[in-house]
Amino acid sequence: MDRYCVFGNPIAHSKSPAIHAAFAAQTGQSLTYEARLAPLDGFAAAVQAFIAEGGKGANVTVPFKLEAHKLAQALTVRAQAAGAVNTLHFTEQGIIGDNTDGAGLVADIVNNAGVAITGKRVLLLGAGGAARGVVLPILEHRPARLVIANRTVATAEELARQFAALGGAGVVSGCGFGQVQGPFDIVINATSASLQGDLPPLPAGVFAPGTLALDMMYGAQPTVFMQYATGHGALARDGLGMLVEQAAEAFAMWRGVHPATGEVLHQLRAAL
Ligand code: NDP
Repeated sequence: MDRYCVFGNPIAHSKSPAIHAAFAAQTGQSLTYEARLAPLDGFAAAVQAFIAEGGKGANVTVPFKLEAHKLAQALTVRAQAAGAVNTLHFTEQGIIGDNTDGAGLVADIVNNAGVAITGKRVLLLGAGGAARGVVLPILEHRPARLVIANRTVATAEELARQFAALGGAGVVSGCGFGQVQGPFDIVINATSASLQGDLPPLPAGVFAPGTLALDMMYGAQPTVFMQYATGHGALARDGLGMLVEQAAEAFAMWRGVHPATGEVLHQLRAAL
């Protein structure tokens, strides 16, 4: 049986084994998928050990996405642009690195939430690893504009410069939270502020009635960002759909078949 896993530290909380087991059952694919704790100073060795055991591919989560990017011998365009890798494919040609986070986010917005990105005003909060991974997939949907706002302003400006050079000129810009001028049709919280129960300090007028506000974080309760957005007339959504969709993208890369995600998302939501 083909073997896959997810590497992280910590990893016990990971929902990826359940998601991939559901995809395998649904598509009739014969495979195993486990969670593997990699030592903080031993990611590359853990990957090599898994390959030696016959591993065919792996997902990579916090804190190893940058190391996975370095380890890969070939990168997809979106992994190159993201500067981070969340999916490894072990092939006869070597280790291929991909980044499916952005495609997962876009699939959740377009297919699950039913909100088109094309022609819309999009605000991306944060400029860390998660934000970096979603910029190119958003730009590929041709938004009217994409504003990247971050606590450390220089990081947002640098990210915007990088993606302006990659085809986003005239569309993408970077600034601090205080300089954001709304309203926006889609607001994505890719900061880790929700982890501490904090809210990025947004100026008034960011949300309008019907704005889609998506927090990449998920949990049993709405995050403080989701509550704030709902209070300002937005439709709030958490990151569980993105999680399932990025897994589906990885599964498709490995197995050549794209699983249906609706039922899996429904089951995960019920188990939160
Ligand atoms: P990083 O550590 O790489 O980046 C953190 C970002 O959050 C930076 O832009 C940082 O700003 C900003 N930030 C941190 N604290 C605050 C605060 N109190 N107020 C405002 N901004 C803040 O993290 P990641 O990009 O890897 O992850 C971000 C979030 O996305 C996490 O919650 C993670 O769980 C989630 N995520 C969800 C996924 C899913 O599938 N649903 C997939 C990947 C990530 P600064 O640059 O100034 O430090």
